[in-house]
Amino acid sequence: MHDKSIAEMSAALAGREVSSEELTRHFLARIGELDGALNSFITVTPEKALEQARTADERRARGEAGPLTGIPMAHKDIFCTRGVRTSCGSRMLDNFVSPYDATVVERMSAAGMVMLGKLNMDEFAMGSSNETSYYGPVHNPWQQDHVPGGSSGGSAAAVAARLVPAATATDTGGSIRQPAALCGVTGLKPTYGRVSRYGMIAFASSLDQAGPMTRSAADAAWLLGAMAGFDERDSTCLEHPLEDYPALLDRPLQGLRIGLPREHFGEGLDAETAAAVHQALAVFEAAGATVKEISLAHSMLSVPAYYVVAPAECSSNLSRFDGVRFGYRCEEPVNLEDLYKRSRGEGFGAEVKRRILVGTYALSAGYYDAYYLKAQKVRRLIKDEFGRAFDEVDVIMGPTTPGPAFRIGEKTSDPVAMYLSDIYTIAANLAGLPALSVPAGLVNGLPVGLQMVGNYFDEGRLLGIAHRFQQETDWHRRTPPGFA
Ligand code: GLN
Repeated sequence: MHDKSIAEMSAALAGREVSSEELTRHFLARIGELDGALNSFITVTPEKALEQARTADERRARGEAGPLTGIPMAHKDIFCTRGVRTSCGSRMLDNFVSPYDATVVERMSAAGMVMLGKLNMDEFAMGSSNETSYYGPVHNPWQQDHVPGGSSGGSAAAVAARLVPAATATDTGGSIRQPAALCGVTGLKPTYGRVSRYGMIAFASSLDQAGPMTRSAADAAWLLGAMAGFDERDSTCLEHPLEDYPALLDRPLQGLRIGLPREHFGEGLDAETAAAVHQALAVFEAAGATVKEISLAHSMLSVPAYYVVAPAECSSNLSRFDGVRFGYRCEEPVNLEDLYKRSRGEGFGAEVKRRILVGTYALSAGYYDAYYLKAQKVRRLIKDEFGRAFDEVDVIMGPTTPGPAFRIGEKTSDPVAMYLSDIYTIAANLAGLPALSVPAGLVNGLPVGLQMVGNYFDEGRLLGIAHRFQQETDWHRRTPPGFA
């Protein structure tokens, strides 16, 4: 049952072959049995899940079920969930029970989906390996001494290990696509503003975007349809018509113009990962697509620009965690300053502190022009460069990451090496473009991903392209050993 696609599960529910309660119990049992080795969940919510499952079954009995009614899923622990701890992977919010639901959570519940729990992540979504979580690292289901990627490492590992059919995740610089690639699942970061950020704990507000993580592009199409759309509670959410994503999956690849950024195939790219990507590209060519080399020279400045902009925004966003209104508070503060200092000092981990320091510095008088303003100018150059590329090609493809998953502990003492894991993903966030990663091969038994970047609002088109690829290949059906 756990290997079925969302469409197949939906059909099984509609045909009364299985009830949502049975399906939910099946996945809860898998989590109980297998997650000890992975640590992909921070919180499992069996009672709430079974209650939602029974409600879904009742809805179905009354003839009021939609296609997603009764299908289990889990949320990255960055989304506020009413009555359930919402930790954001941090000691700071270890005691925080949200009084309201994020829009994404509200919409998925309204569609009748069943929440199994909250998934592990890097603290405040800062990281590329899920090692900064207060709740401990997540293990890659393919090889458990390896990282799952981050920051949405729990979402990727849980989907890959078939502990959940689907998960939500967020992507500020690659946190959906990079872990999806390293765990062998499909992850989509929609156009900035396509999905509401209301109730999604902010890291860098001008970059953060939520999206689905699933085994296939077809499953992602179902989830995106339920998540996306205008929300007046998020002033950056866009009023742009939604597409019927699942209905539009079958588009021909004939004539598709694919651009390969020369800079994404150069120094730093692992040779076997490059070979997997080239094999994937051959699948598109065989289906009638054309491939041409393009240049994204400015996008190679995306890592330095991002590591000014993202920390700057995070230093402002995270100022709200002060030990006063909610979250962690130090023991017996002697005065207000001591309360602030110790609550923040004890509540935040090292990577979060590093970002707050860098961001505060970059925004300070005298340095603002040299760093923040400069980074914003580079950002504009990157956006304009993509604009020119999309005059010539329909989609930009390349590796999602420079190589497969690395070992736990391998990069923790070298922040710059860690930051470079996102070298191919960050530019899409700086430009606000939709981008997706699909499984494209195995390198020494570890998955690698093919990234596709589309023009604004092309998420439907990207899902269709990925779907066609998944009809020709079976990388997305491979299961990590021990999790079949
Ligand atoms: N790895 C990047 C960072 O640490 C991106 C994280 C993300 O997308 N949330 O900032």
